[in-house]
Amino acid sequence: MIRILLLAATVTLAPQSSEHARQRAEWNRPQAPFRIAGNLYYVGTSELAAYLVTDPKGHVLIDGALAESAPQIERNVAALGFRMRDVRRLLINHAHWDHADGLAALKAASGAPLWASAADQRTLETGRATDRSDMTPFAPVKVDHVLKDGEVVAVGATRITTLATPGHTPGCTSFRLTVRDPKIGRGRPLDVLLACSLTVAGQPLVGNRRYPTAAADFRRSLDRLAPLRPDIFVNFHASGFDLAEKRARQVKGNAGAFVDRGEWPRRQVVMRRAFETEFARQRAGGKP
Ligand SMILES: [Zn+2]
Repeated sequence: MIRILLLAATVTLAPQSSEHARQRAEWNRPQAPFRIAGNLYYVGTSELAAYLVTDPKGHVLIDGALAESAPQIERNVAALGFRMRDVRRLLINHAHWDHADGLAALKAASGAPLWASAADQRTLETGRATDRSDMTPFAPVKVDHVLKDGEVVAVGATRITTLATPGHTPGCTSFRLTVRDPKIGRGRPLDVLLACSLTVAGQPLVGNRRYPTAAADFRRSLDRLAPLRPDIFVNFHASGFDLAEKRARQVKGNAGAFVDRGEWPRRQVVMRRAFETEFARQRAGGKP
């Protein structure tokens, strides 16, 4: 809850404020890249996720973090022995500055097309949120293909399925894929959920003419994700799935440090409670 409140306080800061600059620098601290499991790698910063899903036929890079994160992400991809030029698709979980700002630079470095949801397209292409007036602008980036709900992004034998989970933004998109890792459960298939943000984070939920269905969308997305039991749950803020703690256990020799079928069921209960609390507060006249 404290983390959600902190996030709410930070995302609404004016871009030129020193607090915003401090937040960016804090979230951009480097993180050594590593394999989560199978062909799923973490190539983001210490707080802002970026995922590389590799395939002999080419890779998929999910999320761009900040513009100033892009060189770090490029170095991370190279450090793992992969090439940016082999990235075949760029994906994005949602069109906010802390996830989308780096996409333009990563697109230039890779030459890969950006595939994104229709409902976030305008925000991505203008760098300004369509659904609220207080968001920090970011580097605009062209969407080359509009992803439909349930569409499968295929590169070689790799399949990533999109799942529309609007609420945090109108086009918030989660992804699912299956990985296999010989060091985990003798290579049994592992279901991975890469969840779009489901925090309210200062968003107006009541009477927002820019996004009137926000609250209903949140509830529907939580309902949709609730029955999933992924072996591996990750999202796009490292602190949102305890990356540092899990990585420390992995370094110590626990190959399955990121595998926990109980994690998502536990987290979604907390997220739903946080949403309903915030929605009730705003309905009672509380400011977003
Ligand atoms: Zn966001």
